[in-house]
Amino acid sequence: MSVLEATKRRFVPVSVFQLFSIGIGPSSSHTVGPMRAARSFVQELEAEGHLPLIASLTIELFGSLAMTGKGHATDIAVLLGMEGESPESIDPNCVQERVARIESEKTLRLLGLHEVPFVIEEHLQFHKGKRFTFHSNAMRFKAYDAKGAVLLSDIYYSVGGGFVVPQEQALEPSFTSTAEDIIPYPFQTCEELQYHCRENKMTIAELMMENEKTWKSEEQIREGILKIWHVMQACVERGIQQEGILPGGLEVKRRAAEMYRTLTQNGDLIKDPSEIFDWVSLFALAVNEENAAGGRVVTAPTNGAAGIIPAVLHYYQKFIPSFSEEGVITFFLTAAAIGILYKEGASLSAAEMGCQGEVGVATSMAAGGLAAALGGSNAQIENAAEIGMEHNLGLTCDPIAGLVQIPCIERNTMGAIKAINAMRLAMHNDGEHRVTLDQVIAAMRQTGEDMQSKYKETAEGGLALFVPVNLPEC
Ligand code: SF4
Repeated sequence: MSVLEATKRRFVPVSVFQLFSIGIGPSSSHTVGPMRAARSFVQELEAEGHLPLIASLTIELFGSLAMTGKGHATDIAVLLGMEGESPESIDPNCVQERVARIESEKTLRLLGLHEVPFVIEEHLQFHKGKRFTFHSNAMRFKAYDAKGAVLLSDIYYSVGGGFVVPQEQALEPSFTSTAEDIIPYPFQTCEELQYHCRENKMTIAELMMENEKTWKSEEQIREGILKIWHVMQACVERGIQQEGILPGGLEVKRRAAEMYRTLTQNGDLIKDPSEIFDWVSLFALAVNEENAAGGRVVTAPTNGAAGIIPAVLHYYQKFIPSFSEEGVITFFLTAAAIGILYKEGASLSAAEMGCQGEVGVATSMAAGGLAAALGGSNAQIENAAEIGMEHNLGLTCDPIAGLVQIPCIERNTMGAIKAINAMRLAMHNDGEHRVTLDQVIAAMRQTGEDMQSKYKETAEGGLALFVPVNLPEC
């Protein structure tokens, strides 16, 4: 059974704080998810009292994780996850030093508590060309005792956006959630979402706030959302200060700092209205260059597409006079509802959907979020989100050398501008639209299923094929 089939029959409530989580670059499915999975594996060993008994450990990566794992830092993520690090709390500045220590000492410090011998070339294996049925992004971890007996063996799937599914959940036919009992307004389709809104005379953001109160108080939700916004702002700030070459060997130059200097040389004066595009691109470049450098970013809803929502929010702050923190909260809650629709109806994983599942979804979320922040009706929000995806259908994932750099960084600038345009088209309309959001999500899903695997985060097709690069194996 594939993850798409599994999605059809199960419903897991998703919070705004799962769709927007503070993490580390460069990839949500290949860095954030694997780090969480590895940490979860050793935590399970600790909970069962096995941690002191572990004498050796193996890590195996399959499918897309094996194909593009090196470029996406999957190897580093699983090692640090085994050492107990999480994407939310790890200091990005210490990563290289930690990996150098693991390499030179040939040991892993599991959860920082128990040391085992670990030779990366021997114990961390990339199974290129092998994949599991449930999802392309699979990891298998095995821990052994001193006699070579297996203490624990587990498979995890990183299903996109940093979400992780353990094997027992992937296989369990009765894996269902009691979501309908616990959240007041459960929805899997836009039709259901709009129905609840109509029946209860609520905006999409108000409905999401009520659902979020299942887990947190309204005050905590507001604080949490503004914290995410502040992390996005800090990311842009860092991104426009950093210069030099991005890591990985492609020799891609960081451009945000120079662009910022050019745009600000006349102060805040806008000489030409199209400079607004440059600002939006600048915000996206800043975030995605930070992401490519392994910096602190917000997964929104993936890392590859992490620049679109911050860029659109910065546009809202800088160029829309009615900007307010209340508008930011409305934006996030609405964008999260749209993200949930894609997670429920299709997938956020480029290994399943191509770049439609990353840049396409982020564009759709940003378009709907901005329409909501500007006072759009629920129908206009749906229309904006629909337009945001409609013109991303078929977008493939073809990162050169498996690095989240080309086309990813510029593609976020395109997504951000497209999101603003989608919002504007929808706001010029009365909300009536021929294609529903549910229909475009179904079309995206079908397109993703029909897409050849070489266009789904394997770095075997598209630009990755026609711009071959020989990077040193390191
Ligand atoms: S091409 Fe798109 S989906 Fe693929 S790694 Fe880049 S941003 Fe992610």
